[in-house]
Amino acid sequence: MAAAQPHVLIVEDEPAQREVLAYNLGAEGFRTSTAANGEEALMMVEEDRPDVMVLDWMLPNVSGIEVCRQLKMRPDTKGLAIIMLSARSEEVDKVRGLETGADDYVVKPYSVSELMARVRSQLRRVRPSTVGEVLTFEDITLDSETHRVTRAGETLKLGPTEFRLLSTLMEKPGRVWSRDQLLDRVWGRDIYVDTRTVDVHVGRLRKVLTSHGGSDPLRTVRGAGYALG
Ligand code: CA
Repeated sequence: MAAAQPHVLIVEDEPAQREVLAYNLGAEGFRTSTAANGEEALMMVEEDRPDVMVLDWMLPNVSGIEVCRQLKMRPDTKGLAIIMLSARSEEVDKVRGLETGADDYVVKPYSVSELMARVRSQLRRVRPSTVGEVLTFEDITLDSETHRVTRAGETLKLGPTEFRLLSTLMEKPGRVWSRDQLLDRVWGRDIYVDTRTVDVHVGRLRKVLTSHGGSDPLRTVRGAGYALG
């Protein structure tokens, strides 16, 4: 399901490198998009926010460092995981020294498997439900690998949409999600779904979560959306 797939944006001006990265990340099951320069990268972040950005340092015009700095300064984009690529280890030291806020650094030439491991590691932090992690919230456990959900030890039967909805909510307990944000994350932005559909599925999820007793962990925030806890 496209919506549950993590989205990786590759920013690299060399077409061959861009292709290798897109191919390998695609093979790992990630949704990828590519940008050939810094301006394009910043524009793409506005249109379709990625979970992880693989960002080359040396780019024409707006450098990778500048892109990173701009994104990490903004409250709405600072949570985006950024892995910087650079040509030499001295550059990595320099980038670190510049305090661009990048989350990780990889030196070129890198091994593809090493870079994949770094991307997965960032995803474990920002989108744990997409890399087979077990998430817990109070007495609820969600295993994103086996798709098994339990509450107080009882197995709960969730439909695929309710499962993705719960995964999203469990990644950030307490965060209030608007209906539009949930639509993007759970259904995907390519599909037209009425925002009321979100209410219907939240209702179903509530019913299953409370089916063995236990209080309702979902919170409806008037005029804003929904939160877990
Ligand atoms: Ca480059």
